[in-house]
Amino acid sequence: MSQPYRSWVEVSRSRIAENYRAMKSAVGSSVEVMPVVKADAYRHGAVEVSRVLEQEGVRWLAVSNVEEGVTLRDAGMTARIMVMADFLPFERKALIEYNLTPAIHDVADIAAFDRLAREAGVRAAYHLKLDSGMGRLGSRAGAAAITAAVNGAQHAVLEGLMTHFASAANYDSTQTGQQQEAFWKLADELATLGVKPPFQHLSSTIATAYGRQAAWGNMVRPGHGIYGYISPARGEAPRQILQVKPALSWKASILAVKELPEGALVGYGGIFRTLRPTRIAILAVGYADGLPHRLSNRGKVIAGGKLVPIIGSVSMDVTTIDISDVPGLKVGDAVTLLGEENGEKLDAQQIARVAGTISYSVLCGISARVKRIYL
Ligand SMILES: *Cc1c(COP(=O)(O)O)cnc(C)c1O
Repeated sequence: MSQPYRSWVEVSRSRIAENYRAMKSAVGSSVEVMPVVKADAYRHGAVEVSRVLEQEGVRWLAVSNVEEGVTLRDAGMTARIMVMADFLPFERKALIEYNLTPAIHDVADIAAFDRLAREAGVRAAYHLKLDSGMGRLGSRAGAAAITAAVNGAQHAVLEGLMTHFASAANYDSTQTGQQQEAFWKLADELATLGVKPPFQHLSSTIATAYGRQAAWGNMVRPGHGIYGYISPARGEAPRQILQVKPALSWKASILAVKELPEGALVGYGGIFRTLRPTRIAILAVGYADGLPHRLSNRGKVIAGGKLVPIIGSVSMDVTTIDISDVPGLKVGDAVTLLGEENGEKLDAQQIARVAGTISYSVLCGISARVKRIYL
């Protein structure tokens, strides 16, 4: 359906809710599901998505940084909010002010958080992120050092231990198994020393969807799956225990339609030359909206219910397609960049494959200039 916008996404609230319910029933009632709504909910809109999830009874939400957490609080979200990747000095005060729960990734920061909580006169929970072998955020300290730091704090209270996998989708790799083992070994050592926080969590969508149950602990952190995506696995993966469907479609309006003769060049660099008299449509969407430039001359869109090629370069604000085989399209009509029309489908994974990137990046790349409509 056309809309009075150059380019827009349509987000299905019911799909978000269904994907969340599917996730919950996949892990069972003893495992808490903490949906990840960072990066504006992978561009689905963090406030709207969080509202849907709170209506579904979610108790935890996860964001990347303090600013994202503050946005959710200001919009009235009451669930616990974990901030996974932000313990920058200038953001720490707001963590307490807005009742956000940080993932602390360095034992020295426990004392810093404790000081802030004491000054504010509150007890404030944090989760400790362990680097179990990804080599990114997370503490590499041993059990004794962690125990000393945890016990040294009176106002900062350890509520969870967490880690993150580097290669969860790759069943040819032993990295996930090794990380899992390292995590539980340290968790056991900490328990022996009396450090037994209520939550342990390791898994995002992939380890959840492929049923890697030993990596669930009692909480999982799915992002991609909530939006309807599960990355394909490499190697001999077990059967998926989760079925989800994309919640977002992306459309653009036709800005102009015209005929080009055979042999005409199309767009910047003249990288496409028509092989026949060609009817083209110029779409009101470009790489400034997030359409990957790498789709130049090789991507497709769905126009008039048919897959048609992108021809020439994707420009900043416009993109040209060949509509010779789809008569009847006119200025103002909508085409589908990502989504379904007439049984034809294009999802973020297919687009990513053609563009040489990952589906996460396709979704997160949809820029703020693209309007959002909720269905
Ligand atoms: C982004 C993120 C997730 C969610 O990952 P998905 O693959 O989207 O499910 C979970 N945990 C951490 C630490 C993350 O950064």
